[in-house]
Amino acid sequence: MIKKILVANRGEIAMRIFRTCRVMDISTVAVYTHVDRGALHVRYAEEAYCISSTPDDTSYLKPEQILAIAKQTGAAIHPGYGFLSENADFARRCEEEGVIFIGPSADIIARMGIKTEARRIMREAGLPIVPGTEEAVKGIDEVKRVAREIGYPIMLKALAGGGGKGMRLVRSEEEVATALRLSQSEAGTSFGNDAVYVEKYIENPHHIEVQILGDKYGNVVHLGERECSIQRRNQKVIEECPSPFVKEATRRKLLAVAVEACKHIGYYSAGTLEFMMDKDQHFYFLEMNTRLQVEHPVTEECTGVDLVRDMITVAEGNPLPYKQDDIRFDGSAIECRIYAEDPENNFMPSPGIITVREAPEGRNVRLDSAAYAGFEVSLHYDPMIAKLTCWGRTRASAMASMARALREYKILGIKTTIPFHQRVLKNAAFIEGKYDTTFIDTRFDKEDLKRRQNADPTVAVIAAALRHYEQEKEQAARATTLPVVGESLWKHYGKLQMAANNY
Ligand code: ADP
Ligand code: ADP
Ligand code: MG
Repeated sequence: MIKKILVANRGEIAMRIFRTCRVMDISTVAVYTHVDRGALHVRYAEEAYCISSTPDDTSYLKPEQILAIAKQTGAAIHPGYGFLSENADFARRCEEEGVIFIGPSADIIARMGIKTEARRIMREAGLPIVPGTEEAVKGIDEVKRVAREIGYPIMLKALAGGGGKGMRLVRSEEEVATALRLSQSEAGTSFGNDAVYVEKYIENPHHIEVQILGDKYGNVVHLGERECSIQRRNQKVIEECPSPFVKEATRRKLLAVAVEACKHIGYYSAGTLEFMMDKDQHFYFLEMNTRLQVEHPVTEECTGVDLVRDMITVAEGNPLPYKQDDIRFDGSAIECRIYAEDPENNFMPSPGIITVREAPEGRNVRLDSAAYAGFEVSLHYDPMIAKLTCWGRTRASAMASMARALREYKILGIKTTIPFHQRVLKNAAFIEGKYDTTFIDTRFDKEDLKRRQNADPTVAVIAAALRHYEQEKEQAARATTLPVVGESLWKHYGKLQMAANNY
């Protein structure tokens, strides 16, 4: 039985995991860096350990140090997503040191971490894969030869890729040399491995993924699919469960082959098989994420399953508490990722202090967040600050709740993707469920977004009050070196509220 869990992560996902720990009566251990000393996950956990060696050391990639803290506190480790979650060496070191790693085996993580290897394994396990190479390409001539076989456009992708980085679209032979050079150098700097391979570019694709959960006794179930085609920079921003695009016959086939493939490779814990699906519903395996996924809440809302709880159950060596037929799919859920980014300016990161945070509440709303008024969103970490998920018995009702919740959601002091999401929810193609991964580039009217934002009177009033507050804060900062957060901010918040209400 796991009695204590160290979450080797920060932000909303650390909070997400800690919350389930509380439900399960499991003690919590946080690790944090110096810049995160005021973060919510640090306050929430029963124990917290700083892992920075100096005040400007912002790294959470401290496998040995984190392992030592886990041993010393007697905790199992949940890695969340990102950071050490797909680091096979770390999972192996946990195994060696007798610390429970809440995830799949180190061996599976290692094999799925190399995309060409994952493609080979999954092809052998019976999945259709995106046409392309199963080895790294050696040079320009080889890329051209492969491209002539499978046809342009192609994508050059990093073997060790992740987070939408290290991939390049190539539309013709003339573009190969430059694209290869850029892709290799980006892969090298991002992943410390400059190897790239070739995939056929699937035109107007849907990103469809299958949530899998397995135990150590060969039981594997699926928890349905997710539609993740609203992307910027090949990274998801809105996800839905179920997909409005996938037809029932396709769904049955997709889910069945995904489960079979995971049984074939002996997968346990939570995992996600990602697929590209073309307009004719042909699907191709893309990659496997051997961890909890950012967008797991939409699946949880539609199935009632707590994925973190069952990852813990499986890590304890218990069998899955249900069979496939016990899983009931109910209604529809949508998640909007709230990034500290400026949607009007190419989704540029927008770090800074959150001065006001008014969270949406009420029926069918779930907010996974670690933000609070006074918290500084730093440039050192991923700019995603929260995930808003809404459920409804129908897709239309889930979307109506989302529009309502987004309207209630106020974050000031930084730019966020909230206005972007509001715009998407009004888009006719999105409402009809007719969109693919090209949506943001082809259907999203940035000018219109700008006009709408400026036209919102409440925002304008609050913004004016906020500028006033910030001027005062600058004056205060000149008078004292102490950071101006906490009490004085709440006083101002009251003023802002009044300003907004009086409008
Ligand atoms: P990452 O490891 O960065 O998540 P993926 O291989 O999962 O990389 O791809 C991320 C996204 O990039 C996909 O969801 C899709 O939008 C786009 N993409 C990747 N490969 C292809 C492809 N062969 N054809 C079309 N789009 C692709
Ligand atoms: P809303 O959020 O607009 O109430 P819901 O998706 O929750 O939308 O439900 C839509 C309608 O269906 C509502 O009128 C509700 O009363 C009804 N309803 C909700 N749940 C169920 C259910 N399990 N079986 C039958 N009807 C339901
Ligand atoms: Mg991916």
